[in-house]
Amino acid sequence: MPNLTDTSQNIYRVRVVVPVHLYDSFDYKLSLDQYQQAQVGARVAVSFGRQNVVGIIVEKLPLDAPINPNFQLKNITELLDDQAILDDNVLSLLTWSAQYYQFPIGEVAQTALPTLLRQGKPYNLLARIWRVLDLHADDKIKRSIKQQDAYKILKLHPTGTSENILNLSGIETATLKALEKKEIIRFELEPQNFKPEPVQLAQMPLTANEDQKKAIQGILKAQKKYQAFLLDGLTGSGKTEVYLQVMQEVLKQGKQVLVLVPEIGLTPQTISRFQSRFHCNIALLHSGLNDSKRLQAWQHAQTGKASIVLGTRSAIYTPMPNLGLIILDEEHDLSFKQQEGFRYHARDVALYRAHLENCPIILGSATPSIDSYHLVEQNKLTKLELNQRAGTALMPKMHLIDLKIAKKDHGLSQQLIEEIKKRLHKKEQVLIFLNRRGYAPVLICESCGWQANCPNCDAHFTVHLKPYQHLHCHHCGTIQRIPDACPSCQQENTFKPIGMGTAKVEESLNELFPDYDVLRVDRDSTSRVGSWQKIYDKIQKAEPTILLGTQMLAKGHHFPYVTLVAILDIDSGLLSVDFRATERTAQLIIQVAGRAGRGEHKGDVYLQTLKPDHPLLNTLINNDYRAFAKQTLKDRQLALLPPCRYAILIRAESKSQDENLSFLQQMNENLREVSGDLIDIWGPIPAPMERKAGRYQSHVVLLSLDRAKMHYYIRTWWQNLLHAKPSNMKITIDIDPQELN
Ligand code: ADP
Ligand code: ZN
Ligand code: ZN
Repeated sequence: MPNLTDTSQNIYRVRVVVPVHLYDSFDYKLSLDQYQQAQVGARVAVSFGRQNVVGIIVEKLPLDAPINPNFQLKNITELLDDQAILDDNVLSLLTWSAQYYQFPIGEVAQTALPTLLRQGKPYNLLARIWRVLDLHADDKIKRSIKQQDAYKILKLHPTGTSENILNLSGIETATLKALEKKEIIRFELEPQNFKPEPVQLAQMPLTANEDQKKAIQGILKAQKKYQAFLLDGLTGSGKTEVYLQVMQEVLKQGKQVLVLVPEIGLTPQTISRFQSRFHCNIALLHSGLNDSKRLQAWQHAQTGKASIVLGTRSAIYTPMPNLGLIILDEEHDLSFKQQEGFRYHARDVALYRAHLENCPIILGSATPSIDSYHLVEQNKLTKLELNQRAGTALMPKMHLIDLKIAKKDHGLSQQLIEEIKKRLHKKEQVLIFLNRRGYAPVLICESCGWQANCPNCDAHFTVHLKPYQHLHCHHCGTIQRIPDACPSCQQENTFKPIGMGTAKVEESLNELFPDYDVLRVDRDSTSRVGSWQKIYDKIQKAEPTILLGTQMLAKGHHFPYVTLVAILDIDSGLLSVDFRATERTAQLIIQVAGRAGRGEHKGDVYLQTLKPDHPLLNTLINNDYRAFAKQTLKDRQLALLPPCRYAILIRAESKSQDENLSFLQQMNENLREVSGDLIDIWGPIPAPMERKAGRYQSHVVLLSLDRAKMHYYIRTWWQNLLHAKPSNMKITIDIDPQELN
């Protein structure tokens, strides 16, 4: 134990991670007073280079710790928190993530903090409590109903009401501010109550069927210890009911539950399923929140006030003092993998977190990833199956339509048009799926064959007609107007859009079915806040409607009146070079198909294709994703592809492909020298889309059966590579890559 009172020679230091793209953490000096106050997991303001940054203390160094002579020891500027805001488990999770994904710890740690805390804003445990000042102010607010409502409520609570509660009951902060300005009300900062509220069951659980019972009991046996489950249940088999009943037990013990859902899965419908079952504080963490709402939700999670935390990918790093269960729904969804910057997979991080927290974790899906089936084979995941649709609903029937021989109208086969008509006449709903937004994927000149291509990418421009006619590159964002004449043959009026996007199909459907509403759901049509909600509300009414959209529609939604699903074109997914393309395509087909027949009427799925003999389609036509997955895992085993070997993808990007390739070639040789044949090195090769946003992309794929050893070799090699690379070359590392583009 160092003698803390002897200050003569002692230099008190803390180790801090700072938000810069460097792999180290840094030591700073502080006074004895500060040292005694400093907490691991608390924020500090420090200067780094010429910047002032907000860092996190990860260690209080003992006095005899060696001093790095190469780094000038600076004083910290300020302690920002008087207590830890990240707990030990989250700090360990961050350290592990930085190591595993080979990413700078300071940047990794940013993922765990809401924006306002990253900016160094105070994290106070105080709340604004509003009270009425002027009891006779009715005349001053005659013109604003909102202000009258707020005033009425505040008058009913003379002891004051917190702004949070007012916000929750629909009173906006702006309204309160307006009343404050008129000196009718005012607020004071008071300590908040972060005690967990007792959880009440707001709604009786459904009577679980046999499969559900088995799953629930299986998971509950594992309470208070780490065990990972794969809940493999058909679409509509009642996975959510299993989650809810397991949660009920965990919540009863005063524990918190973390639920992770895909990026666009966090719809009002999802939220309300949890809200209507449990009466408790639910913290929502997703990208749609403004900074202060996000901080508030985070605070509820971090203090233990929230019993349920419902969030997307990055919510896996939320501190929760009493975490007792993690649920990751739609575990196959690609949005759990961050595809840029810190490239982590929330599913893998979640497994590690559950391990650290010593609690069970459930990964759920109707179309589990091949990765997860592999973990089941290795006994790292316990599989629980739900084999029938819950309630009375039946699985939909799949039909293939051979586009080579079908009669077509507006790009839809005649047979499909007839079937759609039948459903609409019966006042049922129809869902049309096409995973391509815009009007058309290609624009050609019919006279000379010229095609409109993006000048910066190896890609066609997509034609958009709204809000104005233009060409848009979906890879780099370049926008151009459609030229008046063909740039190649100079003729006018020779352009023809080829192929169809959702906007074109919308136009066709309006022509084919003029008496019915067509609701389009894609990123273009739902970019405005609330527009998706409006569409959603319409679908929940039993009115004949055509719903048209991209994969936004495929995600776990419950559309009780949809009885027909049409999949217009998934052929590109059958032909792609990425070995995971068939897995993604199969998941997409089963998930879209799963939106059919979830109510009283049986559903049908029609799939248009030019490849009706493709083995994937023939397996899936029997709704048999599991048979497909089993075969795929076998194929991967034979080909020694992930998950049967561990992969790392190195991407290089610069203005010269030659430079990329020769640099990577050299680095590969260095690696081969140290790792021998432990690592199989593929490449360097040009990326599937060689030129993107004006720069050339190339890849190296590293594969090994021995993950630990590969990661060991890679660590030093990667650091060398970063030092050796030309400054105009951007190089990234992707551990366990999900996409090879
Ligand atoms: P999944 O998440 O597996 O796709 P859901 O949880 O959405 O399935 O369940 C589909 C429908 O079945 C929902 O309307 C749900 O309320 C209902 N359901 C689930 N379990 C039962 C049950 N045990 N008895 C009756 N209905 C159920
Ligand atoms: Zn482009
Ligand atoms: Zn031309």
